[in-house]
Order: sequence, then structure tokens, then C-alpha cells
Amino acid sequence: MLDCAIIGGGPAGLTAGLYTTRGGLDNVTMFEKGMPGGQITMSSEIENYPGATGHISGMDLMIPWPEQCQRFGLKHEMSEVTRVSRREDGVFSIQKSDGTADEAKSVIVCTGSAPKRAGFIGEDAFFGRGVSTCATCDGFFYKNKEVAVIGGGDTALEEALYLAKICTKVYLIHRRDTFRSAPNTIARVKAAENIELVVNAIPEEVFGDAKGVNGIRVKLQDGSLRQIDVPGVFVFVGNNVNNQVLIQADGSFLCDMTPWGEVKVDLSMKTSVPGLFAAGDMRAEAPKQVVCAAGDGAVAALQAIAFVDGHQ
Ligand code: FAD
Ligand code: NAP
Repeated sequence: MLDCAIIGGGPAGLTAGLYTTRGGLDNVTMFEKGMPGGQITMSSEIENYPGATGHISGMDLMIPWPEQCQRFGLKHEMSEVTRVSRREDGVFSIQKSDGTADEAKSVIVCTGSAPKRAGFIGEDAFFGRGVSTCATCDGFFYKNKEVAVIGGGDTALEEALYLAKICTKVYLIHRRDTFRSAPNTIARVKAAENIELVVNAIPEEVFGDAKGVNGIRVKLQDGSLRQIDVPGVFVFVGNNVNNQVLIQADGSFLCDMTPWGEVKVDLSMKTSVPGLFAAGDMRAEAPKQVVCAAGDGAVAALQAIAFVDGHQ
């Protein structure tokens, strides 16, 4: 039986693997369905991981992480986990897509999340070259420039306010004229001098050239097109949390979740189920940053060690 099963091999899972093994757990396996490294490996540049100076891609950042963990004994299994369940005796079952299963005393779930795409022309082609889903990651690249934000929920409005502090102007493009966001956030957005609301506007196309995005065209209510010339377009139209592994045979979740599908954790990354921890982008109120996911993974690992040792 595994001392700890880690599900997902992004920054959270790899850090959990480092801390569990180096902290003395003998039998730890990290299950990752693809290559380890997580979603940051899709980024061409990361500027905000502490100590990573110079031009460094997400892939460059993550390449040494698996080797460092393996040095302390972390086993890596390239498998897709389909379900994590817990028997009455407290042992966890890790079921995999090939039909096999493993048993574990503790589990750290680190399966991440993925922003939804809006579906306009050019969104995929210019992703990472002007189209972004992360203001904290990429906002700085547009310092003293104009940007567009798409969406009308809490995330879009909060990120528009964040960008308005860095950029000269933010066009907030929303397909309706009422917002889903909290009333005080809407009030702050409306009061911001450098946020222009572009409502009843459906994003049609992001356009640009080899250097990146030059602007976005939106269709207005009367059918006309408006062109907004900006080098950056931020898309916040919802988020898919990779929480499928926690769904049980009866459709319920193994542990308590937020209404929008994130795992509820305390400050120790403990879920509502003893021995089950969650870390990184899939947990509630995650800042969705590599440094934070790594920090979560370390915290969860220390708790998993204490749990396996019977100190919890
Ligand atoms: P992830 O990195 O999403 O890793 C989850 C892993 O779990 C994946 O490898 C996935 O394959 C695996 N997995 C999922 N389900 C299963 C399953 N059922 N079985 C087995 N494995 C599974 N952050 C920054 O700090 N700075 C930046 O500049 C920055 N830029 C970004 C740019 C882009 C384009 C993207 C997409 C993200 C960026 N981020 C940035 C955010 C950062 O990548 C995430 O916050 C971070 O990767 C989250 O780590 P995680 O380990 O929680 O999840
Ligand atoms: P969301 O609430 O689902 O909002 C998504 C927004 O994107 C909506 O305004 C939607 O328009 C728009 N949209 C969806 N698909 C689109 C498309 N294809 N093209 C153009 N626009 C599109 O998502 P979210 O803002 O990420 O929030 C998710 C959950 O987290 C919410 O429950 C939210 O309250 C919560 N959250 C809370 C906080 C906080 O409390 N501080 C912060 C962030 C998120 P319509 O409105 O027309 O559907």
C-alpha cells in the first residue's frame, strides 16, 4: 500500500512529491496522465517565479522538478486516475483508466484547472501571443498600454480592475449589459476612470500579425462591427476545475466542494475527509500561480506525513 498517492504532476503535485519523499514517506507515487510539469509548460515566458530571472519559459522552469523529486524516491506513474474513493477502513482506492487500482493511506489531489475559451476567431491562434487567461501572469507585459477584457463575471471584473492599475485603459467587453459579478465589484468597475464598458458586444475575431495581437472586433447589438485596437486580450469566461477524480459512483463528491466545483480546504490543505488533501489551482480561492501551487503542495505534503505517522 502507498503511504501517499499524489494525483497530478504540475507544480503542486511535484512539490508534494518532493516534500513527502524528502520528509520520510517511503512509498509515494505521483500519477500524471501526461508529461510532468503541468499547464505552465504551455507558457512561453514566466517572469514571476521567485529567483527565475532572465528570459525563461514555463518548460525551462519545470524541466528539473521531476528529477529533483525522483532523487528522493518519488515514483512517477504515467496514468490517468479516474476516481479516488475511500473505504470504510479509511484506505483510499486510486482507480485508473486502464482498469487497475492502487491503495493508499493518504492522497494529495493536484489535478489543476483550465480556463474556458470563448470561441472567437483567432483565440487559439494568438493564445500566448496577445491572448491570455491570466492577468497576474501577463498583465505586466502590457504596462502603460491598452488591453481588452472579455467576460461579465466576478473574475472578468476583478481582473479588469487589476489590469486598470497597470494599463492605461481597459475595454471590458461583455455580451450582455448586466453583469454576474458582486454589486460592489460592479460599482468599482463603473467608477474606474480608465475602464470603458463595451456591452452587448460579442467577440468576433482577434486579429494581428507575426508579432502578435493588434486588436479585436466585436459585434454590437445593431449588427455592426466595432474594432478595438489593443495588443492584449484577456479572456475570463469561466473555469473548468479538474475535479472528476473526486466524483463517486453515486455522483456525489468525495469531499466538500464550493458551488463552482473547487475543493474546500483549510489553511493546511486538509479537505473534509481525513487523509485527503488538495493543492494548487483546483482548491478554493487558489491564486492560480506556480509559486502558490508549489507552496500548497509543500503544505499538503507536511500534513500527509503527519497523517500517515498518526499525528493527526
Ligand atoms: P496544473 O499545472 O494544471 O497541473 C495539473 C496536472 O494534473 C496536469 O499535469 C494534468 O495533466 C494532471 N492531471 C489532471 N487530471 C489528471 C488525472 N485524472 N490523472 C492524472 N493526472 C491528471 N502562473 C504563474 O505563476 N506565472 C505565470 O506567468 C503563469 N503563466 C501561465 C501561462 C499559461 C499559458 C497558463 C496556462 C498558466 C499560467 N500560469 C502562470 C498558471 C500556472 O500554470 C498554474 O497556476 C499552475 O500550473 C497550477 O499548478 P497545479 O499543479 O495546481 O496544476
Ligand atoms: P462566470 O461567473 O461563469 O462568468 C463567466 C462570464 O463570461 C459571464 O459573464 C458570461 O456571460 C461570459 N461568457 C461565457 N462564455 C462566453 C463566451 N463564449 N463569449 C463571451 N462571454 C462569455 O465565471 P467566473 O467569473 O470565472 O466565476 C466563476 C465562479 O467563481 C462564479 O460563481 C463567481 O462568483 C466565482 N468567483 C468569485 C469571486 C469572488 O467572490 N471574489 C471571484 C472570482 C470568481 P453571461 O453573463 O452572459 O453568461
